[in-house]
Amino acid sequence: SRDPTSAMLDHIEQDNVRFLRLQFTDLLGMPKNVAIPVEQAEKALTSGIGFDGSSIQGFVRIEESDMVLKPDLSTYSLLPWRSGEYAEARFVCDVYKASGTPFEGDPRYVLRRAMEDAAKDGYVFNTGPELEFFLFRMHEGRPTTQFQDVGGYFDLAPTDLAEDVRREIILALTEMGFEIEASHHEVAESQHEIDFKYSDALHTADNVITFKFAAKTIALMRGLHASFMAKPIYGICGSGMHTNCSLAKNDKNAFYDPDAPRQLSRTCMHFIGGLLRHAKAITRVANPTINSYKRLVPGYEAPCYVSWSAGNRSALVRVPSPRGNSTRVEFRSPDPTCNPYLAFTAMLAAGMEGIREKIEPPAGVDKNIYHMTPAERECAGIETLPGDLYEANRALLADDLICRALGPHVVEALTSVAEAEWEAYRTTVHPWELDRYLATY
Ligand code: ADP
Ligand code: MG
Ligand code: MG
Ligand code: MG
Ligand code: MG
Repeated sequence: SRDPTSAMLDHIEQDNVRFLRLQFTDLLGMPKNVAIPVEQAEKALTSGIGFDGSSIQGFVRIEESDMVLKPDLSTYSLLPWRSGEYAEARFVCDVYKASGTPFEGDPRYVLRRAMEDAAKDGYVFNTGPELEFFLFRMHEGRPTTQFQDVGGYFDLAPTDLAEDVRREIILALTEMGFEIEASHHEVAESQHEIDFKYSDALHTADNVITFKFAAKTIALMRGLHASFMAKPIYGICGSGMHTNCSLAKNDKNAFYDPDAPRQLSRTCMHFIGGLLRHAKAITRVANPTINSYKRLVPGYEAPCYVSWSAGNRSALVRVPSPRGNSTRVEFRSPDPTCNPYLAFTAMLAAGMEGIREKIEPPAGVDKNIYHMTPAERECAGIETLPGDLYEANRALLADDLICRALGPHVVEALTSVAEAEWEAYRTTVHPWELDRYLATY
């Protein structure tokens, strides 16, 4: 039997790969990659490839910028849009410091550490995200907010460009090993959703990054822009990334208990209790842009209040009806601008605290919370999610557990990003202000 590295090198040769892309993710969730010619493959797979981390957002200071990318062999995948004679393949990489220790600012490492912590209690964290996005027209090389189609929820539109593009995205993802469960037209014009099968959170986070860049690449090849912005257009639905979560123990779904009320185990209820306790701090990583908070407003099936429910889509945590192996809780606040590694880390840490401290969630809220008055909400003990990025970052800083899970390096970097973004936003004069005041005053 051959060692895994030699087997992989053979595989790369058989696939006629000319270039390898070594992929990793910065703290903002942006995919980065270094392309190397295949002649460097052996070096990359044995000792890793060095790069300068100082120019990567949220990475390191100049004086300690030497980083090494080490490919995770299990993530090898051909890029379907670069096939043929000069094929390209990619690896998702782990980031190491020159000293050989994992780099604390690598979001993949942060999630791996949280998963290892849960593994001490025998748990594997599984996540299944539902990514929504818009397909917009381009104009002179720049994205616009012009719709490509005018379909609505689950519409069977006459075959149009958007539908073709959605199908091509699905075909490419399938070639890359995704198991696509469903795709449909979403509520808004030009808005789509593609669901792929859940997996352990690390693998899923890799998939989210791959999904977004594959969708963008394929849309662009057809002259469209795939936008994962949370709320590109005022007055219509934004794009979410509902995250379905479950824990597995000994290959069984630990959230399922056929004898419990609602068939939800104590573990599941405590996980919900933890999610709700830390919901405000999680928001900082689940909703990381200024624009994210324009989606978290009443009336568009996006959550704004800290609550859970068995069916109600205005709640932050919903428990979808399937049971057995599909028993899961759906965390509805994340949007697709999030760094999935960091968002999953925060969710897992919160849920695990819930389990370890047996946190009972408050009573489920089965009425439409958007229709409750502030007094009714207060009476029911329903708190409000942070209203903007600044407030969310304050909530993160006030939450020891989530700060510990992310680690000081990440918290510091996230704080400086949030403060700079907020300051730029706060001091900018926006079109809304000119519309409102210019003629009047
Ligand atoms: P919705 O009903 O909210 O629209 P979807 O059907 O669009 O939900 O998506 C459900 C997601 O939940 C899929 O990604 C699916 O793979 C995932 N899922 C199913 N079972 C589990 C589980 N046990 N743990 C985590 N995710 C799961
Ligand atoms: Mg869905
Ligand atoms: Mg569904
Ligand atoms: Mg949806
Ligand atoms: Mg959903």
